[in-house]
Order: sequence, then C-alpha cells, then structure tokens
Amino acid sequence: MHAVYEKHTVPWVHISPALLTRFLLLGHTSVCACVCICACPEIGGVVEAVGDAVTKYKVGDKVGVGCFVDSCRSCSMCKCGEQNYCRTGMVGTYNATEKYAHCPGYGNGADQKPAPTYGGYSKDVVVHEDFVCGIPDNLDLAAATPLLCAGITVYSPMAHYGLKKGQRLAVAGLGGLGHMAVKFGLAMGCTVTVLSRGLSKKEEAINRLGATAFIDVTDSEAVAAARESFDMIVNCIPAEHDLGLYLGMVDINGTMAVVGASPSPLPLNMFSIIARRKSIVGSMIGGIKETQEMLDFCGKHNIVCDIEMIDAKAINEAYERAVNSDVRYRFVIDTATL
Ligand SMILES: [Zn+2]
Repeated sequence: MHAVYEKHTVPWVHISPALLTRFLLLGHTSVCACVCICACPEIGGVVEAVGDAVTKYKVGDKVGVGCFVDSCRSCSMCKCGEQNYCRTGMVGTYNATEKYAHCPGYGNGADQKPAPTYGGYSKDVVVHEDFVCGIPDNLDLAAATPLLCAGITVYSPMAHYGLKKGQRLAVAGLGGLGHMAVKFGLAMGCTVTVLSRGLSKKEEAINRLGATAFIDVTDSEAVAAARESFDMIVNCIPAEHDLGLYLGMVDINGTMAVVGASPSPLPLNMFSIIARRKSIVGSMIGGIKETQEMLDFCGKHNIVCDIEMIDAKAINEAYERAVNSDVRYRFVIDTATL
C-alpha cells in the first residue's frame, strides 16, 4: 500500500492509478505511545500528485492520513464510513501488511508477498483518496498531524456518545490523548475537570489548557466531593487503575469512555455500573467520515495538538521519552530529515 521512496510510484497498475492520491511528505509524522506498544504513524503532508480520477484533492492541498490506509471497502462498517471497525480488518498505516488485492502494489513485497506498510517513516506515500483527510488551511500542519490519531481517538467517543454543550466532562489522565479531550470538551461548551494522580499537572491543566477544575484522585475527600458529578469521563489512562474510583464520579446514567489501554485486565465491581445505570464503553480511533468532521471542528475552533518537533535521527530517544510520558504532548518528526 505504501510507496517508500520511488520504487512503488510506478506500479499503480495494480489498481487504476487514477484512483490514487500521491503526496510527498513535506510534512510530518508523529510519535505516540498511547498504548505503550505502538509508534503511531499518522501523517500530515501536502499533495504532490494525483491520479486522473481523484476528485477530492488537488496538488498543494494540506492533507493527512490516520492510523489506517485501507480496509475491505465493502462491509457494512466500511460502507458507513467507519473503516476503523472494518469487519475483516483495516490495513494499518505502519507496521502492517497489505491485506486486500485492491491495495496498490499488492504482492509487490519480497517473493511477491504482500508488502509491509511503513507509515509516516517514509519519503512519500500513496493512498486511495477515500482514506485521506483534508487539513483545514488555518491549522499548522505539524501541530495538526497528531489530530489524526490522538485527536480522533478522544473526539470519536465524545461525539458518538452524544456529549452536549453544558454537560460536565472529566478527563482522566492528562497526556497526549487527555490534553486533546480537554480542548475538545471546552470547545464543545462543556465544563472540563482533569483527574490526575497528585498535583503536578494542576497548573498545566488549569492555567495553560484552561480546564474548569482539577481533582487529585489520591485525595479521597476531593474524590468523595465529586461523587456522581460527571456526565462523561474520557478515560485515557494507559496503566492499571481503580475503575471503581472513577466510576464513582460518573453521574447516574453517565458514561465512562475508555480509550487508554491498561496492559492487564482491570477488576470491576458490577454494582458500580448496575446500581446507577452507568455505562462503560470503548472506542478506537475513528472512521474517515468522523475524522474529517473532527478536523473541520478543529479548523473552526483553531484546535491543534501541543507538539515538540524533532529530527528523524532523534526518534529512538523520542520514543523512550514518549513511553515515559516525558513529552508535551506529541513528538512530530520533520520527514525532511529522514
Ligand atoms: Zn470493511
């Protein structure tokens, strides 16, 4: 699926070349350790060339590709624009393998096997236009790039589960995902409370990000005072934690949307959801349709991610720092340095 350097730019014969968008990465790819095991590969760039039948983009457009570059394109989920939940599986942008014969270059790997995908760690990329999103002109390309992963990961459950203006949102875990949930919640007109262990992130949450309130979850009095006070908690915590403590702060009929992956299963007292009709829901990135909606929302409200730009040669150090949460909040690689 991915064109790495020049060698894959010709075999557009595997699919009508007219159906492809090719863009040269003048742009950026960001490093994320949101689930601790992957370096997410979302890509922001500028369209360098398009096939004849491309209708959505033209040369020079600012565009992005999220965590996947293809899917079966025919199942019920793909047909409604939720390719992230493709019934036979999406093709990841990075460290995946071509899966469908309609992938350009399918079978062009070693020994004619499906080729691997290299994500944003590439000089240029070829993607079907249906898997490309437009980045609003007013957004900085580098800072907008992680929206394609961190941004959509938290935006999707907030939108899908119907968070409304005036509601009370809490964000558990203030990292790459959490800081975006704070920005979206405020832009949606919600009150936003950051839940964090200790007070080290309080100043950042309140003064820099503009959160409405901050609760140190190790302070049992503060937690008790917040009992059943949130309509939704976006749970971004990528580590083991006490689900019951957080569910206690979800209001009756409220929702905890989980987007952070604990490395091990978490115990749950069923009565913490049964007794007050609470929901625990999961969500993983978003489909193309919703990702575009999120980007348009960001354009309207001038929302981008907080980033640190790095050279490609600093990627190993950046990965270590990302795993250790030592970044505010995403590294973005300038691919001109690849
Ligand atoms: Zn599908």
